[in-house]
Amino acid sequence: MKREEAEVAVVGGGVIGASLAYGIVNRNPSVLLIDKENMELTASRGNFGLVWVQGKGFGMPHYADWSIEATEHWPEFASRLEEESGISLDYEKTGGLEICLGAQEFEERKNFLGQMQEQSKDGTNPCEMLSRSDLQSKLPDIVLGDEVSGASYCPHDGFVNPLALLKALHWGFQQKNGKYRHGHSVLNIQKNGCGFCIETDSCLFQVNKVVIASGLGTTKLSKMVSMHVPVRPERGQVLVTERTKRVFPFATGRLRQNADGSFMLGASNEDVGYNLETSPEVLSSIASHAIRIFPVLNNLQLIRSWASLRVLTPDQKPVYVESEECPGAFAVTSHSGVTLASLHSNHLPDWILDGKKPLDFDVFHSRRFDVP
Ligand SMILES: Cc1cc2nc3c(=O)[nH]c(=O)nc-3n(C[C@H](O)[C@H](O)[C@H](O)COP(=O)(O)OP(=O)(O)OC[C@H]3O[C@@H](n4cnc5c(N)ncnc54)[C@H](O)[C@@H]3O)c2cc1C
Repeated sequence: MKREEAEVAVVGGGVIGASLAYGIVNRNPSVLLIDKENMELTASRGNFGLVWVQGKGFGMPHYADWSIEATEHWPEFASRLEEESGISLDYEKTGGLEICLGAQEFEERKNFLGQMQEQSKDGTNPCEMLSRSDLQSKLPDIVLGDEVSGASYCPHDGFVNPLALLKALHWGFQQKNGKYRHGHSVLNIQKNGCGFCIETDSCLFQVNKVVIASGLGTTKLSKMVSMHVPVRPERGQVLVTERTKRVFPFATGRLRQNADGSFMLGASNEDVGYNLETSPEVLSSIASHAIRIFPVLNNLQLIRSWASLRVLTPDQKPVYVESEECPGAFAVTSHSGVTLASLHSNHLPDWILDGKKPLDFDVFHSRRFDVP
């Protein structure tokens, strides 16, 4: 059995683990990033790439502020990461739209954003409603479908190439002498005298601190160091069209145009356990919805589709927790791993390395799921 030591180990090389490892290695070079890497279509490889604020944080205003802060850090984060890795992220802060079909959807969206505004800390909300004609005037190169009634608009939203983001984080981490140990499925984590022993089938890693960012594996691994972090899978199916002229310069929750001109359409929300198959019915309803918004999309060939599993906590909001029984063990999970990458890499290293928590950070503790 091989043995290796380091100050910190991050277990999970998805976008959350890689953002954390990339941030930590800037402060302390003795970091291991351990991943089982079996090339599954994990959330980090199959997501929609939105850097998104709109509508986030309902019921937890601090999460809404946290998402806005993340988007404020994104431009600087993206350019530093691009410079260090030499990989273009195709990040664009375009502003985001939620396009409504019919009068009822428009009213519901307006009411929802009104409620978000009421519960916000300072009584404001960054979104505004756009009428159909205001929306069409923002889109001179593409014609709206007859059913489109308008949209909500948020200037903070944008998108990135999610695969490039993941690659750049890994590359940036390794360039700073971070050690990526792939092909290692973590079987056990045990508290011992001066830290933690992490066991895989071929290696024992001895570290002072361990951060569990293992996507759908987080619940099981967190339990080994006395943390309760419930997560469950939710399937999302995504479609990609052939490339065409760039005509749609915004992000939306269900439709966007990539830097290469292809449209990405998605993503469904399906409670089907760990099933990663795509289904013709769901893909066809995603495509029909997009065509109702922009009828011209009907002329494009669909070239790719996939399904991937979201990692959802019970309230779909992030969890950041340090074990009380085993201090030095942390768990991090979120359904906004792309959006929050800038903060995970900028702010969380201070918490993990020095115990310095961002303001009001305890709202994200997983004790909110404990049954009294
Ligand atoms: C369809 C879809 C669309 C999405 N759209 C967006 C979006 O637009 N914007 C956004 O911000 N977010 C989006 N998300 C969510 C985002 O993708 C996730 O928040 C993020 O990818 C979660 O990253 P993660 O690193 O926690 O998990 P994962 O990507 O699941 O990575 C976890 C890693 O841990 C490893 N691992 C697990 N168990 C072990 C073990 N025992 N030992 C070693 N390694 C282990 C796995 O191999 C994996 O590499 C979307 C998700 C989906 C599915």
